[in-house]
Amino acid sequence: MKQISDHLYQVSLGIVNVFLLQGDGLTLIDTGVPGSTEKVLAAIRKGGKNPEDIRNIVLTHWHPDHAGNAAELKQRFKARVYAHAAESDILEQGGGPRPRYLTPGLVNWVAFRLFIKGISPQIAPVIVDEQVQDGDVLPLAGGLRVVHTPGHSAGHMALLVEPDGVLIAGDICANASGLDYSIVYEDLAVGRQSILKAADLSFDQAVFGHGGPVTQQANAKLKARFQQPNPFAGKPLKPV
Ligand SMILES: [Zn+2]
Ligand SMILES: [Zn+2]
Repeated sequence: MKQISDHLYQVSLGIVNVFLLQGDGLTLIDTGVPGSTEKVLAAIRKGGKNPEDIRNIVLTHWHPDHAGNAAELKQRFKARVYAHAAESDILEQGGGPRPRYLTPGLVNWVAFRLFIKGISPQIAPVIVDEQVQDGDVLPLAGGLRVVHTPGHSAGHMALLVEPDGVLIAGDICANASGLDYSIVYEDLAVGRQSILKAADLSFDQAVFGHGGPVTQQANAKLKARFQQPNPFAGKPLKPV
Protein backbone atom coordinates (compact mmCIF):
# COMPACT_ATOMS: atom_id res chain seq x y z
CA MET A 1 0.00 0.00 0.00
CA LYS A 2 1.42 3.34 -1.04
CA GLN A 3 0.48 6.66 0.54
CA ILE A 4 -0.55 9.16 -2.14
CA SER A 5 -1.61 12.12 0.03
CA ASP A 6 -2.78 12.95 3.56
CA HIS A 7 -5.96 10.86 3.27
CA LEU A 8 -5.39 8.54 0.30
CA TYR A 9 -3.54 5.25 -0.17
CA GLN A 10 -3.15 3.17 -3.34
CA VAL A 11 -3.38 -0.61 -3.13
CA SER A 12 -1.87 -2.14 -6.27
CA LEU A 13 -3.25 -5.56 -7.16
CA GLY A 14 -1.26 -6.07 -10.35
CA ILE A 15 -4.02 -5.86 -12.94
CA VAL A 16 -5.87 -3.03 -11.16
CA ASN A 17 -5.48 -0.50 -8.34
CA VAL A 18 -7.95 0.07 -5.55
CA PHE A 19 -7.76 2.95 -3.07
CA LEU A 20 -8.22 3.46 0.63
CA LEU A 21 -9.41 6.80 1.96
CA GLN A 22 -8.85 7.54 5.62
CA GLY A 23 -11.08 9.98 7.49
CA ASP A 24 -14.54 9.28 8.97
CA GLY A 25 -13.51 5.63 9.15
CA LEU A 26 -11.98 3.89 6.16
CA THR A 27 -13.51 4.07 2.69
CA LEU A 28 -12.54 1.58 0.03
CA ILE A 29 -12.67 2.96 -3.48
CA ASP A 30 -13.15 0.05 -5.89
CA THR A 31 -12.66 -3.55 -4.84
CA GLY A 32 -10.60 -5.52 -7.39
CA VAL A 33 -11.33 -8.55 -9.57
CA PRO A 34 -13.66 -11.24 -8.20
CA GLY A 35 -11.87 -13.55 -5.77
CA SER A 36 -9.21 -11.06 -4.64
CA THR A 37 -10.83 -9.98 -1.35
CA GLU A 38 -8.14 -11.57 0.81
CA LYS A 39 -5.40 -9.99 -1.31
CA VAL A 40 -6.99 -6.54 -0.81
CA LEU A 41 -7.37 -7.02 2.94
CA ALA A 42 -3.84 -8.39 3.36
CA ALA A 43 -2.43 -5.32 1.60
CA ILE A 44 -4.44 -3.01 3.87
CA ARG A 45 -3.21 -4.83 6.99
CA LYS A 46 0.36 -4.79 5.73
CA GLY A 47 0.00 -1.03 5.27
CA GLY A 48 -0.86 -0.70 8.96
CA LYS A 49 -4.63 -0.14 8.64
CA ASN A 50 -7.39 -2.29 10.10
CA PRO A 51 -9.91 -3.55 7.52
CA GLU A 52 -12.50 -3.75 10.32
CA ASP A 53 -12.60 0.07 10.08
CA ILE A 54 -14.00 -0.06 6.51
CA ARG A 55 -17.36 1.72 6.68
CA ASN A 56 -17.93 2.73 3.07
CA ILE A 57 -17.30 1.38 -0.42
CA VAL A 58 -17.36 3.80 -3.34
CA LEU A 59 -17.42 2.28 -6.83
CA THR A 60 -16.12 4.26 -9.81
CA HIS A 61 -18.04 1.90 -12.16
CA TRP A 62 -19.47 -1.60 -12.43
CA HIS A 63 -16.65 -3.39 -14.32
CA PRO A 64 -15.62 -6.65 -12.64
CA ASP A 65 -12.03 -5.47 -11.99
CA HIS A 66 -13.50 -2.59 -9.93
CA ALA A 67 -16.75 -3.93 -8.44
CA GLY A 68 -15.78 -7.61 -8.35
CA ASN A 69 -15.67 -7.99 -4.56
CA ALA A 70 -18.11 -5.25 -3.59
CA ALA A 71 -20.91 -7.58 -2.49
CA GLU A 72 -18.61 -9.71 -0.34
CA LEU A 73 -16.87 -6.73 1.28
CA LYS A 74 -20.17 -4.92 1.90
CA GLN A 75 -21.54 -7.93 3.72
CA ARG A 76 -18.37 -8.60 5.66
CA PHE A 77 -17.89 -5.07 6.99
CA LYS A 78 -21.52 -3.90 6.86
CA ALA A 79 -20.31 -1.09 4.62
CA ARG A 80 -22.47 1.44 2.77
CA VAL A 81 -22.03 1.25 -0.99
CA TYR A 82 -21.96 4.43 -3.09
CA ALA A 83 -22.20 4.51 -6.88
CA HIS A 84 -23.46 6.87 -9.54
CA ALA A 85 -27.23 6.67 -10.10
CA ALA A 86 -26.67 5.60 -13.74
CA GLU A 87 -24.57 2.63 -12.59
CA SER A 88 -26.76 1.26 -9.82
CA ASP A 89 -29.02 -0.92 -11.99
CA ILE A 90 -26.15 -2.87 -13.53
CA LEU A 91 -24.45 -3.28 -10.12
CA GLU A 92 -27.68 -4.57 -8.58
CA GLN A 93 -28.28 -6.89 -11.57
CA GLY A 94 -24.83 -8.44 -11.23
CA GLY A 95 -23.04 -6.91 -14.19
CA GLY A 96 -23.14 -6.92 -17.98
CA PRO A 97 -22.40 -7.45 -20.72
CA ARG A 98 -22.91 -4.03 -22.24
CA PRO A 99 -21.82 -2.99 -25.74
CA ARG A 100 -18.20 -1.83 -25.75
CA TYR A 101 -15.64 -0.80 -28.34
CA LEU A 102 -11.93 -1.48 -28.55
CA THR A 103 -9.72 1.61 -28.66
CA PRO A 104 -7.59 1.25 -31.85
CA GLY A 105 -3.91 0.30 -31.69
CA LEU A 106 -1.88 -2.87 -31.42
CA VAL A 107 -1.07 -2.36 -27.74
CA ASN A 108 -4.79 -2.10 -26.92
CA TRP A 109 -5.59 -5.19 -28.97
CA VAL A 110 -2.91 -7.21 -27.15
CA ALA A 111 -3.91 -5.87 -23.72
CA PHE A 112 -7.56 -6.63 -24.45
CA ARG A 113 -6.73 -10.24 -25.36
CA LEU A 114 -4.46 -10.67 -22.34
CA PHE A 115 -6.39 -8.90 -19.59
CA ILE A 116 -10.02 -8.28 -20.51
CA LYS A 117 -11.34 -10.85 -22.99
CA GLY A 118 -11.23 -13.73 -20.50
CA ILE A 119 -12.89 -11.87 -17.60
CA SER A 120 -16.57 -12.64 -17.16
CA PRO A 121 -18.75 -9.52 -17.27
CA GLN A 122 -20.74 -10.90 -14.34
CA ILE A 123 -20.27 -9.87 -10.71
CA ALA A 124 -22.05 -10.82 -7.51
CA PRO A 125 -25.04 -8.44 -7.40
CA VAL A 126 -24.54 -5.63 -4.89
CA ILE A 127 -27.15 -3.26 -3.45
CA VAL A 128 -26.25 0.41 -3.86
CA ASP A 129 -27.14 2.24 -0.63
CA GLU A 130 -26.36 5.73 -1.91
CA GLN A 131 -26.98 6.71 -5.52
CA VAL A 132 -24.92 9.81 -6.15
CA GLN A 133 -24.86 12.49 -8.84
CA ASP A 134 -22.38 14.80 -10.48
CA GLY A 135 -21.32 17.53 -8.06
CA ASP A 136 -22.27 15.70 -4.87
CA VAL A 137 -19.65 16.07 -2.18
CA LEU A 138 -19.59 13.02 0.07
CA PRO A 139 -18.81 13.83 3.72
CA LEU A 140 -15.73 11.60 3.82
CA ALA A 141 -12.17 12.66 4.64
CA GLY A 142 -13.03 16.34 4.37
CA GLY A 143 -14.96 16.09 1.09
CA LEU A 144 -15.02 13.59 -1.75
CA ARG A 145 -16.48 15.22 -4.87
CA VAL A 146 -18.36 13.13 -7.43
CA VAL A 147 -17.46 13.87 -11.05
CA HIS A 148 -19.77 12.05 -13.47
CA THR A 149 -17.48 10.97 -16.29
CA PRO A 150 -19.42 8.77 -18.75
CA GLY A 151 -17.87 7.18 -21.82
CA HIS A 152 -15.92 4.23 -20.45
CA SER A 153 -19.23 3.25 -18.87
CA ALA A 154 -22.42 5.30 -18.64
CA GLY A 155 -22.32 5.75 -14.88
CA HIS A 156 -18.57 6.05 -14.45
CA MET A 157 -17.48 8.60 -11.88
CA ALA A 158 -14.13 10.08 -10.99
CA LEU A 159 -13.65 11.29 -7.42
CA LEU A 160 -11.86 14.40 -6.26
CA VAL A 161 -10.30 14.24 -2.79
CA GLU A 162 -10.80 17.96 -2.26
CA PRO A 163 -8.58 18.63 0.76
CA ASP A 164 -5.67 16.74 -0.82
CA GLY A 165 -5.98 17.93 -4.43
CA VAL A 166 -6.03 14.38 -5.80
CA LEU A 167 -8.24 13.07 -8.60
CA ILE A 168 -9.16 9.39 -8.45
CA ALA A 169 -9.63 9.02 -12.19
CA GLY A 170 -10.87 5.41 -12.32
CA ASP A 171 -10.86 4.29 -15.96
CA ILE A 172 -11.54 7.63 -17.69
CA CYS A 173 -8.07 6.94 -19.12
CA ALA A 174 -5.04 4.95 -17.99
CA ASN A 175 -1.42 5.66 -17.12
CA ALA A 176 0.11 2.24 -17.76
CA SER A 177 2.75 3.38 -20.27
CA GLY A 178 2.09 7.10 -20.25
CA LEU A 179 -1.30 8.79 -20.24
CA ASP A 180 -3.50 7.12 -22.81
CA TYR A 181 -7.06 6.12 -23.57
CA SER A 182 -8.49 3.12 -21.73
CA ILE A 183 -8.61 -0.13 -23.69
CA VAL A 184 -12.39 -0.15 -24.11
CA TYR A 185 -15.16 2.46 -24.05
CA GLU A 186 -18.90 2.34 -24.43
CA ASP A 187 -18.43 5.67 -26.25
CA LEU A 188 -14.89 6.96 -26.76
CA ALA A 189 -15.90 10.46 -27.92
CA VAL A 190 -17.99 10.93 -24.78
CA GLY A 191 -15.13 9.47 -22.76
CA ARG A 192 -12.73 12.06 -24.15
CA GLN A 193 -15.12 14.88 -23.18
CA SER A 194 -15.25 13.41 -19.67
CA ILE A 195 -11.46 13.43 -19.38
CA LEU A 196 -11.42 17.11 -20.35
CA LYS A 197 -14.25 17.85 -17.89
CA ALA A 198 -12.25 16.24 -15.06
CA ALA A 199 -9.07 18.03 -16.17
CA ASP A 200 -10.80 21.38 -15.61
CA LEU A 201 -10.95 20.72 -11.87
CA SER A 202 -8.34 21.83 -9.40
CA PHE A 203 -5.92 19.02 -8.46
CA ASP A 204 -2.21 18.36 -8.58
CA GLN A 205 -2.08 14.54 -8.41
CA ALA A 206 -4.13 11.90 -10.26
CA VAL A 207 -4.40 8.17 -9.65
CA PHE A 208 -5.83 5.58 -12.02
CA GLY A 209 -7.44 2.16 -12.06
CA HIS A 210 -4.63 1.00 -14.29
CA GLY A 211 -1.06 2.32 -14.10
CA GLY A 212 0.85 4.59 -11.77
CA PRO A 213 0.00 8.00 -10.33
CA VAL A 214 0.75 11.35 -11.93
CA THR A 215 2.30 13.23 -9.04
CA GLN A 216 2.45 16.84 -10.25
CA GLN A 217 0.29 19.14 -12.36
CA ALA A 218 -1.89 16.21 -13.30
CA ASN A 219 -4.83 18.35 -14.45
CA ALA A 220 -2.60 20.26 -16.90
CA LYS A 221 -1.03 17.03 -18.14
CA LEU A 222 -4.43 15.44 -18.77
CA LYS A 223 -5.57 18.53 -20.62
CA ALA A 224 -2.44 18.66 -22.75
CA ARG A 225 -2.63 14.96 -23.64
CA PHE A 226 -6.34 14.75 -24.48
CA GLN A 227 -7.29 18.18 -25.81
CA GLN A 228 -5.71 17.33 -29.16
CA PRO A 229 -8.48 16.16 -31.51
CA ASN A 230 -9.72 12.60 -30.98
CA PRO A 231 -7.32 10.62 -33.22
CA PHE A 232 -9.98 8.01 -33.91
CA ALA A 233 -12.78 10.38 -34.93
CA GLY A 234 -14.61 9.17 -38.01
CA LYS A 235 -13.10 5.67 -37.83
CA PRO A 236 -15.52 2.88 -36.98
CA LEU A 237 -14.40 1.23 -33.71
CA LYS A 238 -14.50 -2.54 -33.30
CA PRO A 239 -17.20 -3.92 -31.01
CA VAL A 240 -15.67 -6.48 -28.63
ZN1 LIG B 1 -13.41 -0.27 -16.51
ZN1 LIG C 1 -10.56 -1.19 -15.04
